[in-house]
Amino acid sequence: MSVYDDNYDLFEKELASIEVDYPQLHYRMVEDKIVLEGEIQFNLTCKTVNETIEDSYLVQIGFPSDYPNSSPEVREIGGRIPTNFHQNGKVLCLDVPSQVHMIFRENPSILHFIRELLEPYLYAHSYWQKYNGKMPFGQRSHYGEGILEHYSEYFGVEDKEAVMDFLELLVKRGYKQSIPCPCGSKKKIKKCHSKKFLNIYNNVPVEIIRYELVQARKTKYGMK
Ligand SMILES: [Zn+2]
Ligand SMILES: [Zn+2]
Repeated sequence: MSVYDDNYDLFEKELASIEVDYPQLHYRMVEDKIVLEGEIQFNLTCKTVNETIEDSYLVQIGFPSDYPNSSPEVREIGGRIPTNFHQNGKVLCLDVPSQVHMIFRENPSILHFIRELLEPYLYAHSYWQKYNGKMPFGQRSHYGEGILEHYSEYFGVEDKEAVMDFLELLVKRGYKQSIPCPCGSKKKIKKCHSKKFLNIYNNVPVEIIRYELVQARKTKYGMK
């Protein structure tokens, strides 16, 4: 008996696909959770920086009990990734939480997760190590600052206090077409940022956005 009983078939399929593509990963139970453990080897080229990196990492991928509604969590267990490189506790910060969710849910499977989220993260770490702290896809702060940078880019709004207002509205669940757009344009949201807003509002669980808001409030923009 386990928390995954409803998903038994799904896991059989997932683990079979892992055996083919990542034979160095093995699964086991840790308490009542399934984890995949072992080596991820990759040989990737980032077009932005035109650099091919071949490397490998020892990881432990944990499956949440509501998988595949929530995405897996990864720890690096080979001791290569320092605490000052994107981690929350020991869990790797693959991207801002809402982005991880959106990317994972495009095709909620472990293979997609490894290719679209985990390998790019590991690649970025290898690059960062090789080039003394430079990131291949652009610098992103961690925690609240990084979350605000992400939403600022996503909404195309530079004013971080306006970005805070977007987050507050996302968490309050108060969407109406006629409310003023948080970006400060003085237009109704329907005529302004509603498409981008609703994409998050409808696709990212509110607990995830609430977590992001709590982090964002710890920055200087949330100290009002
Ligand atoms: Zn981070
Ligand atoms: Zn707007």
